[in-house]
Amino acid sequence: MFPEEFDYYRAGSIDEAISLLGEHSDGDTEILAGGHSLLPTMKSGLSSPDSVIDISRVDEMSGISVDGDTVTIGATTNYAAVADSDEVWESATCLAEAVSKIGDKQVRNRGTVGGNIAHADPASDLTGAFLASNGTVVVQGPDGERRVAADDFFLGMYATAVEPDEIVTKIEVPKTGEDTVGAYVKKPSPASGYPIVGVGAVVDIDGDTIQSARIAANNLMDHAVRLTPTEDALAGEPATEESVAAAAEIATDDLDEMMMMEDIEASPEFRAQLANVFTERALNAALDRVESPTPAAAD
Ligand SMILES: Cc1cc2nc3c(=O)[nH]c(=O)nc-3n(C[C@H](O)[C@H](O)[C@H](O)COP(=O)(O)OP(=O)(O)OC[C@H]3O[C@@H](n4cnc5c(N)ncnc54)[C@H](O)[C@@H]3O)c2cc1C
Repeated sequence: MFPEEFDYYRAGSIDEAISLLGEHSDGDTEILAGGHSLLPTMKSGLSSPDSVIDISRVDEMSGISVDGDTVTIGATTNYAAVADSDEVWESATCLAEAVSKIGDKQVRNRGTVGGNIAHADPASDLTGAFLASNGTVVVQGPDGERRVAADDFFLGMYATAVEPDEIVTKIEVPKTGEDTVGAYVKKPSPASGYPIVGVGAVVDIDGDTIQSARIAANNLMDHAVRLTPTEDALAGEPATEESVAAAAEIATDDLDEMMMMEDIEASPEFRAQLANVFTERALNAALDRVESPTPAAAD
């Protein structure tokens, strides 16, 4: 199918993108980054914007840097650049692993980190990993720049804290130290490769003891959520398979099963069960990295 007619604008800078958004605020305007979610919805008629603002060639929004305690990834950086970055694997393993599992090579060559976060598909691999990684989204609008913690960013299905006159310019993730390990695992849909459920885990270790853990799941609820019963149960526990198994069993205890995602691939009950199993797998995969904390970048 062909999309409805729309006006196309290509922004050369962040300021130009924001001023174009302001100029077209009276109609339905979409940002075009990698186009891997927007274009399918436009072609299927689910979305018919009046104007499309292409940010894919805004150079200042692209690139990866590791500075002090922070890993910064520009919004238009594609997944392949992240998955191929040894720096991101070393400093933000959970995030790198999630990105390396998105779609196939073609999708990873086009899709962008900012587009994925801004789109906030409940199934998105990046949202759970980003939440587990305690990330921050940097957004910019006519009044300047502001930072939104991942905990406050995802508000619901396809809903985020980004205002209509703002764009996501970059994401920041705290650089993990020697005593922090992370992993992301997913049960992929055999049809689409999207996760039926995905779980990210970032664990702080002191010797043989788990100091703290941040664990988050995507495609369980209408947006990525922390699995706090497991996080609480693990604090101060020995880093053993037994304590991980016990903590993972209660992963979804404070979530309302009635509100869990339900689709042709999985019922809420099955999703809750998957969340427990994949929480255990994510934690064990992270803890396995205590011995070899620097996984190689994806092929
Ligand atoms: C075949 C296929 C398989 C896929 N498999 C997976 C998968 O396994 N896991 C997964 O997580 N995803 C998957 N995806 C989705 C893919 O990751 C998309 O790239 C992603 O959801 C959106 O990123 P994008 O850069 O393509 O954004 P676009 O499609 O360009 O934009 C998506 C939305 O975000 C908004 N937007 C984009 N950038 C910004 C910005 N900087 N600031 C504010 N708003 C912005 C746009 O206005 C639009 O509404 C798949 C897609 C396809 C086509």
